[in-house]
Amino acid sequence: MMGHTHALSGAVAWLAVAPVIPDHQLLGVYAMSLSPAQIAAGAVVCAGAAMLPDADHQSGTIANMYGPITRLLTKIVATVSGGHRHATHSLLFAIGAGAGSWALTVYAPKAWLGVLFLLIGFGLHGIGLQFEKKAEFSMLLNAVLAAGGVFLMHNLDMHWAGYAVALGCLAHVAGDCLTPEGCPVFWPIQWRMGIPLVPRTDGNVEKWVVTPILTLGGIVLAIRTTLGDSLTHWLNKS
Ligand SMILES: [Zn+2]
Repeated sequence: MMGHTHALSGAVAWLAVAPVIPDHQLLGVYAMSLSPAQIAAGAVVCAGAAMLPDADHQSGTIANMYGPITRLLTKIVATVSGGHRHATHSLLFAIGAGAGSWALTVYAPKAWLGVLFLLIGFGLHGIGLQFEKKAEFSMLLNAVLAAGGVFLMHNLDMHWAGYAVALGCLAHVAGDCLTPEGCPVFWPIQWRMGIPLVPRTDGNVEKWVVTPILTLGGIVLAIRTTLGDSLTHWLNKS
């Protein structure tokens, strides 16, 4: 799957799931109420986290984001995780990344802001904020916009961000499971799970079916999220 497909799938997954997080009956003590600003921030975090499993891909989108720094990072992740589409493409990684992010938001909020900077950068790079043959300009623009995003969110209560990170990773794994290579979802068990509905990365199915469905889903869910209450109110009145 292409970077933009993954990032988009993360944002869509968050907008679909966020209304459930405040549900006390369903989540019990893990429920927390989210403001509109937190839901919007969650879509950004989840889009970035949906790029995270490909930190094991040495020539992928993340590897090219900050030149030699991210290439080295992806090389380390690939070596530790067993290569592309291994440990990082699993349930265990999604849970670990979510729990780690939650721990940072609670115990090391400054370190979380560093992770947030990277996640926003991954999301921006994923949706296509990169200019061919203008690597330095792309890097600078990415860093400036990611820093702007961190500034906008630095006062926001983000104790829920672990959910967004875990969900983003899961959306990525679900997307890659639609390709013939599949993913070792239950890693460390090596069995690869996959329903190969998308035969080729950036092929016709991804371009003309997956991306339009995700875009449309994103628009519908964003409208529902922002206008939900006012729409219900208006419908009840009329
Ligand atoms: Zn992947």
